[in-house]
Amino acid sequence: MTAPTLFWFRQDLRLSDNPGLDALGDRPALLVFVLDDSAAGAWALGGAQRWWLHHSLAALEASLRDRGTVLHLAHGDATWIIPELAERIGAAEVIAGRLYEPWARRRDSAIADALEKVGRKLVLHTHSLLHEPHRIRTGTGKPYSVYTPFSRAIFGLGEPHPPIPAPKRLTPVAQAPEGVTLDALELLPRAPEPDWWREFPRHWTPGEAGAARRIEEFGRRAIDRYDDSRNTPGIDGTSRLSPHLRFGEISPRQVWYAAREAGLGGEATFLKEVLWREFSYHTLWHRPDMPEQPLREEFARFPWQVSKPALTAWQRGLTGYPIVDAGMRQLWRMGWMHNRVRMIAASFLVKHLLHPWQEGEAWFWDTLVDGDLANNAASWQWVAGSGADASPYFRVFNPMLQSEKFDADGAYIREWVPELAGLPTQHIHKPWEAPAAVLARAGVTLGRDYPRPIIEHGEGRARALAAYASLRAEGDAA
Ligand code: FAD
Repeated sequence: MTAPTLFWFRQDLRLSDNPGLDALGDRPALLVFVLDDSAAGAWALGGAQRWWLHHSLAALEASLRDRGTVLHLAHGDATWIIPELAERIGAAEVIAGRLYEPWARRRDSAIADALEKVGRKLVLHTHSLLHEPHRIRTGTGKPYSVYTPFSRAIFGLGEPHPPIPAPKRLTPVAQAPEGVTLDALELLPRAPEPDWWREFPRHWTPGEAGAARRIEEFGRRAIDRYDDSRNTPGIDGTSRLSPHLRFGEISPRQVWYAAREAGLGGEATFLKEVLWREFSYHTLWHRPDMPEQPLREEFARFPWQVSKPALTAWQRGLTGYPIVDAGMRQLWRMGWMHNRVRMIAASFLVKHLLHPWQEGEAWFWDTLVDGDLANNAASWQWVAGSGADASPYFRVFNPMLQSEKFDADGAYIREWVPELAGLPTQHIHKPWEAPAAVLARAGVTLGRDYPRPIIEHGEGRARALAAYASLRAEGDAA
């Protein structure tokens, strides 16, 4: 009789293009998901991700039932749950998709050791990326620190392996141990927490079927216009696949091939964006301290200024800068923010408000449904100027110019900051400059209906540049 196998779902909550699941063949297998809140420390799942995970697991349970098996759920420390389950079913192997977060790498190596001691194996497949980050090297054998040559190297490898279909049937183990119920994982927020997730179901369908519908719809409707539409936050011009990719409900290979089928050739911009994700993981693999420490050492001395009221105004979308506030409110209500506005809002926090990027990173982590350790950390460091291949610190985004350029008709601001909806477009980007009569006609009293700017743009910019100059002066003196 074939020995049973333990298959451990992690950030690959899908049946199609799942090489580890495919490798099971007709071997009997116990399919497991473990909610391990302790292992990740400060990077335990944020609230919005927990909401997503609940619904994604519900979708996975249903599709596994359709294939004649069940999902075993467990809650606790995976370093002992996984070896114990392997022991109980007599598994020869534990199969999973590789993870790249430093805490997950430490945990996997502890589990591999524990299994090995009793003659079992942990077998890891590539499930979340196109290529293993440690395999991509420069000509001199080093990791890449600049995106463009990295992406060229990936394109140079040719087309990735085509996605593999979902197994038609999966064989359960004869005597499956009892797991816990999905509700027992307590992933959904409970009273008295505010119902910040209320609008999420209107925007999102977590799970593999939701991801497939999203890419199909994006391919049909917008992918060929992505180059033009991706920077306009007021339209649905990007794929919105990020939470699906985050939880592995779709693989990057499936995204890649869907783009090719939709007619994108060569080094299409959309594929380049997907490669930014690979670059984030490549950087995290080589710099596991990236979520906490600046990649450029000199930024450890940066004279950040922490102001709780300013941070709260930013988090609540009450800075007085409509484009920043629109983004922060979209984040709260939708669990997602358009990439262009993420850059503007993040720049405002670290430059105009001089707040450490780690505070913004932590807020995004808690509120984004696509909160992704590698992408979030790499992007915050990019904005702050401290990251690999980062935007230079002295490039301070002007929120009004960004707004006029990318939300030219004010549609995005009107959607997320409805108290300004009545303002004419020419004034919506900087309501403090609107004549009193215009404000009155739009029903806006500044300071009552909508805040005045918490910092004047010129002052914020000058303060940011002075802080940066002090960093450089210190470096020169050292
Ligand atoms: P599309 O434009 O359709 O792109 C397709 C896919 O490519 C995305 O789903 C994503 O996986 C990847 N991608 C696109 N842009 C980037 C990028 N700049 N960096 C890395 N990958 C990219 N992305 C996350 O997935 N999780 C995060 O926690 C996250 N935090 C961010 C924080 C800041 C401050 C900034 C500026 C960006 C952050 N991003 C993060 C990157 C980017 O904003 C999102 O991936 C993108 O907005 C997701 O929307 P989409 O799926 O419609 O993207």
